[in-house]
Amino acid sequence: MKNHFLKNCTIFFRRNPLDVIDNIQRVQQSNLQECDVCGGVHIQLAFDSKKIDDLQELILKAIYNDSISEEQTIAELALYYGDTLWSGVLEGTKKQNLADSYQANLQEWLNRQHNNIYKFATAKSYAELLEYRNQIIDPQTGAMRSFDDFRKYCDGIKAKYRQNWLEAEYNAVVNGTIQGVNWLQYQENKDLFPYLKYVAINDNRTREAHRMLNGIIEPIDSTFWTQYYPPNGWNCRCLTTQLTKKQAEHQGYVSDNTDVNMKRAGAVVKDKYWRNNTGTGIIFDENNTAYFQALPSEGKKQLSALKNYGLKNSAEILKNSNLPKATIGKKEDFEKHWDIFSNKDGIIRAKCKLGFEYEFNDNFKKHIQDSKHEVDFPNLLDIIKKPDEVWEGELPSQTYGTKWFRKYLKYYEGKPYVVLIDNTGIPKTMYAIENNSSWEKYRMGILNYKK
Ligand SMILES: [Zn+2]
Repeated sequence: MKNHFLKNCTIFFRRNPLDVIDNIQRVQQSNLQECDVCGGVHIQLAFDSKKIDDLQELILKAIYNDSISEEQTIAELALYYGDTLWSGVLEGTKKQNLADSYQANLQEWLNRQHNNIYKFATAKSYAELLEYRNQIIDPQTGAMRSFDDFRKYCDGIKAKYRQNWLEAEYNAVVNGTIQGVNWLQYQENKDLFPYLKYVAINDNRTREAHRMLNGIIEPIDSTFWTQYYPPNGWNCRCLTTQLTKKQAEHQGYVSDNTDVNMKRAGAVVKDKYWRNNTGTGIIFDENNTAYFQALPSEGKKQLSALKNYGLKNSAEILKNSNLPKATIGKKEDFEKHWDIFSNKDGIIRAKCKLGFEYEFNDNFKKHIQDSKHEVDFPNLLDIIKKPDEVWEGELPSQTYGTKWFRKYLKYYEGKPYVVLIDNTGIPKTMYAIENNSSWEKYRMGILNYKK
């Protein structure tokens, strides 16, 4: 038996794990409360966690038997949280009626939140494992608990992570999305409607504090909205409406009152976590999310497939005899292949496995020709529609320097292929990764999908 007592010691983490856990408990527990601003309450939801609950025994045994390092999470657990919270974004965008002119901004917004949510989800999975690990030793006696006792203590933690806290996080995603997407529309319409009004839901749950913010009117580009644009708390139901100049004046707009309004709001929204704008920023603040402290190096380094997600290495995966054969195109057939994939306008439009719509345009086409990847091209749609893994993270590239990409990886007989999408959702390039010493470089950052 390995010495589990050391696990409780501070040397394995830059921060004391008990401090990290305390902080998580304090911050996340607050998400069960009513919103300080509008009195919005915690809504119970049903999540389909069967897939991950089936793995629970294996997860607990791995931790108890010390067969998984502190630097590693369970990829399935991280992806379960990512997929669940991402479905909150889809729920939130479904409620919006978006004109075509918003689509480019919306795609950029979705890219930003996607990265934020899967990062949050990975951090959440690390925090959960850290809490389990902390249950191995009985703090009263300093002795190791039996596995059954250990499991019993872990069950309570599991319930919080997979149900109560997840509900509040899901609601934060839905409300953050509704308000974030509204923001994009407000920006489009601000010539005619240059003002926003804060609307706290008025019902019997409305609190005194909410009255402080209800009805505040500020110009849309006022600094007020960079901090106090709703949601302003866990379970917040606050909204905004957009007004014309005439409407704003009629409803009591006072000019040059921003400082006063900021002070009023600051007294109500005490938690800095919520002082943001999900239209211009991200849903989960990365500096103040307690879960992030549980990440290896607190998330300051890129995670990797082998060390941090516990996945097999590429060489191992490529030994699998059932891998598909890549289609090797002929350089002279490139135009013909492009025409088969593209619309009449010569652009290839395709929806990827994660639901993002991409446009492969003339720039992409020219890049494939200039970089002589025509032979790899016939596999393009297969890779983005049926990838083996999708990662988001930085990649050192000869052409682009070190840049953030969403990376679609697919294993074919002999080598993996990759399609790279930039942070604005524009496809940049695709190729077979010929050099096996660089295979793992593509599997770094945040895991978004695994077949
Ligand atoms: Zn609220």
